[in-house]
Amino acid sequence: MLDVTITNKENEKELFEEISSNEHELVLFCNDNATGLKAIIAVHNTTLGPSLGGIRMWPYKTDREALTDVLRLSRGMTYKSAVAGLNLGGGKAVVIGNARGGKSEAMLRRLGKFINNLNGKYIAAEDVGMSEHDMEYIRMETPFVTGLPDYQGGTGDPSPVTAFGVYMGIKAAMKKQSGSDSLSGKSVLVQGVGTVGSSLVDYLTKEGAKVYIYDIHEPSIQQVVKATGAEVVSEDEVYSLPVDVYAPCALGGTLNPKTIPLLNCSIVAGAANNQLLDDERDGQALVDRGILYAPDFVINAGGIINITQELDKGRPYSRERALMQTEKIYDTTLAIFAKAEQEKLLAQNAAMKIAKERIDAIGKNMRYR
Ligand code: NAD
Repeated sequence: MLDVTITNKENEKELFEEISSNEHELVLFCNDNATGLKAIIAVHNTTLGPSLGGIRMWPYKTDREALTDVLRLSRGMTYKSAVAGLNLGGGKAVVIGNARGGKSEAMLRRLGKFINNLNGKYIAAEDVGMSEHDMEYIRMETPFVTGLPDYQGGTGDPSPVTAFGVYMGIKAAMKKQSGSDSLSGKSVLVQGVGTVGSSLVDYLTKEGAKVYIYDIHEPSIQQVVKATGAEVVSEDEVYSLPVDVYAPCALGGTLNPKTIPLLNCSIVAGAANNQLLDDERDGQALVDRGILYAPDFVINAGGIINITQELDKGRPYSRERALMQTEKIYDTTLAIFAKAEQEKLLAQNAAMKIAKERIDAIGKNMRYR
């Protein structure tokens, strides 16, 4: 079996050095022996508004791995919302444990109490390992949670909207690479067919793309095969299969010095957060190989765009409006590729520059309140 796991252990920093190097505002360690809750909430930046980001539950091998993940994910949320033009800051929470069997009402409600103590500085939603139903438990303890089912006044699972945005991002990348954004007859490998990946496969197959899938969870694979006729590949083929697009839709860090030399595609564009294990090193390695990378935090913003409607209590939720706003990811992605080319930047650095400029400009406005 191909071992493509790699860590950034050599870059491990002191605790406060790690927190301060990306200017995080707050990191909260949540422990509850009675329910077994071990969670970390990270608030990166609240210049544009309260920090919003999903809760991820994952069996991290070490606490350090969980911390690094929540710091990177919360920072990504800041840039995601800023580029998408939303009035939100970046935050995220991770729960250490196995989501399949490791959750309970009591644990989730205890987490809800921790979130409530932050008084709205962090607003939760679902991420990997969390469901709408889990958000209902958290809602029992705090109003600072989104992604609730519609019967609770929420907008439901944001994943299908995220998938639509990723689909728009893939089309924009195809336009940039080939001059046409049609995916008909193009091949795409979707790694991870959970809630986002499976919906993405739907969009792709409907447009006539040839779709290959891989997941570590057999029932998810079977469901997607039955619904779409996608072809299953083995774990060993995930990186090296000749395809037009590799779409990482599982976890982050799959673009690293072990995988990039194996890639046999011309575009990387997917939903997973933090796909590049190291932004500079791995972003440059993709450019050197002639592979166009659509920054993850730009093209996976559909979910948060959808959720913003939940915060706007003045008008009823409209999925159509959410999709219309998400469609703009197509133009945003093309604008970022153009800026990257003009200013000789990596695509993700061009996107971060846009985000930082917006945060700085709005931050200066604050003094007029
Ligand atoms: P999910 O938990 O529903 O699905 C993830 C899938 O990846 C699961 O089916 C899991 O079995 C699979 N997986 C895990 N490790 C794998 C591996 N090594 N190889 C192949 N498959 C593997 O999560 P999701 O909501 O679909 O999110 C997918 C990714 O997109 C995550 O990185 C998430 O952070 C990101 N994202 C999600 C949203 C959203 O709206 N849900 C928004 C933005 C970003």
